[in-house]
Amino acid sequence: MKINFLPYLPMMEILEEEQQIHINHDGCPAGTDTKKRLYIKRTGDKNGKPNYIAYCQHCSSGGRYYSPSLGYKKSGSSSVAMPTTYGNRVVLPPDIDRHIKGWPSGARIWLYRYDIRDSDISQFGIGWSESRGRIILPVYNKAGKLALFQTRRIRKYDSKPKYLTYRNESALFITRYNVDTCVITEDYLSAIRCGRIKGMAGCAVLGASLSEKHVLTLLNNFDKFIIFLDDDNSQVKRNQLKIKHKLELFADVKLLAGVNHPGCDPKELNEKDLEEILCS
Ligand SMILES: [Zn+2]
Repeated sequence: MKINFLPYLPMMEILEEEQQIHINHDGCPAGTDTKKRLYIKRTGDKNGKPNYIAYCQHCSSGGRYYSPSLGYKKSGSSSVAMPTTYGNRVVLPPDIDRHIKGWPSGARIWLYRYDIRDSDISQFGIGWSESRGRIILPVYNKAGKLALFQTRRIRKYDSKPKYLTYRNESALFITRYNVDTCVITEDYLSAIRCGRIKGMAGCAVLGASLSEKHVLTLLNNFDKFIIFLDDDNSQVKRNQLKIKHKLELFADVKLLAGVNHPGCDPKELNEKDLEEILCS
């Protein structure tokens, strides 16, 4: 018997090289498995793509799985995008590549241009999906589950919007929790950059408006807020005022963009200027 890997893709995506999981074999032919007898291991990557082997100790089924084999052609721009949902859950593209050295230069340049470092890439699980031709920016909730992810356009012939968002739940991208001050930004990379300043966390709203649940999350974790949304258009302006009004009932709030620094994008600033603006 061959193992059907599809039900396990969401679990497999979190495995690092040489890591393995053991889980219940769904529909095991030897009888219901409740003792997690199916082993799936991510072995050495092949051509930069994850490679998995599986074995069930209950029914002796086994198999091998290369993530690009899901209806995806090997070369060129004609590759078919891999599924981003399994059942009703959004999952990361199975071909996500977190080793930046193998990415196309455009993707690497985009991150380096904004001073995003290799350590950020591994900390936040940023990746490249060849099947989508896009950078993958994942957002995990505090429990470590994938809440949503964004894909960022890199290629010139990609006619879709600059960012696409796939959600399991509405969530903010928060870079860390163990500090007092939270800098609220529009986008993912700006949050990383602001979150690098001493004593500050970055939080990206990712185009969403702040719900009561989000406000609660912020107030439960931080005492001070700096609102630093980059875009100066009227929609964003209205949004940042709304955020300010909600937060300042309970906390200390400073509004930066649109007042002192109109149209200023946090991720475009160098480290020194960013620190000066945020700490002044
Ligand atoms: Zn089995």
